[in-house]
Amino acid sequence: MAELPPKPHAVLIPVPLQGHINPAACLAIKLAARGFAITYVNTEAVHHQSSRARRSASSIDHDIFADARASGLDIRYELISDGLPISFDRAANPIQFLHSLLYVFSAHVEELMRKLTRAAGPPITCLIADTFFVWPDTIANKFGIPYVSFWTEPAVVFALYYHIDLLIKNGHFASRENRKDAITYIPGVPAVEPTDLMSYLQETDTTSLLHQIIFKAFEEAKGADFVLCNSVQELEPEIISAMQQEKPFYAVGPLIQAGLFPGISVRTTLQVESDCSQWLDSKPAGSVLYVSFGSFANVSKRDLGEIAYGILHSKANFMWVLRPDIVSSDEHKPLPQGFLEESHGRGILVPWCCQMEVLSHPSVGGFLTHCGWNSVLESIRCGVPMLCFPLQTDQFTNRKLVVRDWKVGIDLGRIEEVSREEVSKRVDSLMGGEEGNEAKKMIEEARRALESAVAADGSSQKNFDQFVEDLMGYRS
Ligand code: UDP
Repeated sequence: MAELPPKPHAVLIPVPLQGHINPAACLAIKLAARGFAITYVNTEAVHHQSSRARRSASSIDHDIFADARASGLDIRYELISDGLPISFDRAANPIQFLHSLLYVFSAHVEELMRKLTRAAGPPITCLIADTFFVWPDTIANKFGIPYVSFWTEPAVVFALYYHIDLLIKNGHFASRENRKDAITYIPGVPAVEPTDLMSYLQETDTTSLLHQIIFKAFEEAKGADFVLCNSVQELEPEIISAMQQEKPFYAVGPLIQAGLFPGISVRTTLQVESDCSQWLDSKPAGSVLYVSFGSFANVSKRDLGEIAYGILHSKANFMWVLRPDIVSSDEHKPLPQGFLEESHGRGILVPWCCQMEVLSHPSVGGFLTHCGWNSVLESIRCGVPMLCFPLQTDQFTNRKLVVRDWKVGIDLGRIEEVSREEVSKRVDSLMGGEEGNEAKKMIEEARRALESAVAADGSSQKNFDQFVEDLMGYRS
């Protein structure tokens, strides 16, 4: 009997941050469900953190894919060091963390790749690595395999970084000091105001570590053989088409866990989740504003205070994820004294929750968000209109998509000017005013687009099929 060819084997390496791990875990499941063997690479520090979070929810400590493996999926799990001791406080020392990812991590990746190449089992077909890494194309070339660049943000953000040379040439790079008129020359990208650019492209210190990472990462991305993007064709059609002129570029989103893979749950959380379902059950439908600024952004104490009083003076109930390090790791009382008592049972504060569960709850009617891309996709997927308060990175560009392009949310205003009066006005507007009702209508359309994209004949499913076909063709 003829021997079956070995199954394709992808080594998948996410950036070790919550917002990158979540979609990467979904991608691992999607590929494994397609017959791939997956080696999912976690850092020891993330593994340690997520085991601790999972142990608090159940007495059994298994890795995040135990459920998937029990369902027959071939997902292997490897741990490597990110170059820092496990106990090192990465959130409090982001520069050292980035430095280590930039200069040390790749040596560990290479060592692992050598080990995997020697190991028994299907030979490695491709390296799928987060676009923000600065080494994947170089390493994939060394091992003679294709590099699949995994982009966890919208296509427009990819396009802007990809064409950074055009921004420099036209004087829009470091835009806070440069040109103030709209950017109209990026292929497929409609006019973008300089204030809508990712914060790294607005900043004037262009010698920072982050700039080095972006320049190097996009040099590598230019060498990528394929790009998988966690966006949806219907949301960004022109930009995605324009990127397809540059590279094999596939929109395969939204890569969101809940409900996408029946019977398989992947708990990627790095924090212990509070269960707020009882509290949410006790509130009327659509009455709760969910507030979260994601997994790592900081808010100034002044702004946090204005937001707190604004919410207090609004009519909304609220559930607020207040990470202990939201202001900074050495500020232990970020909110105004007596804030919760003054809300008289209208609100609840938690350090972390299962966001998808909260957004899916019928009592949640609005989301005050920092516009992290996963949060935007999750909010759309659950049909919850947004109040946007971007803080850094791609969040400014994402706000433009939410507020101006898709009209599925409203803007809280500029960071330097946030005031309690404005916050309470906008919260009430989102939760029951004309603007909020308009956003609710629009988000229903977007929600349907996301739902259909992942259906059997939807655009993301077709793009995913095409990617698999192209990758397999590339192999032979
Ligand atoms: N998240 C969560 N619980 C929380 C806050 C956030 O599960 O209390 C998840 C959220 O669902 C999302 C991710 O953390 O998938 C945050 O990613 P995002 O891109 O929104 O923001 P980032 O943390 O990268 O700034």
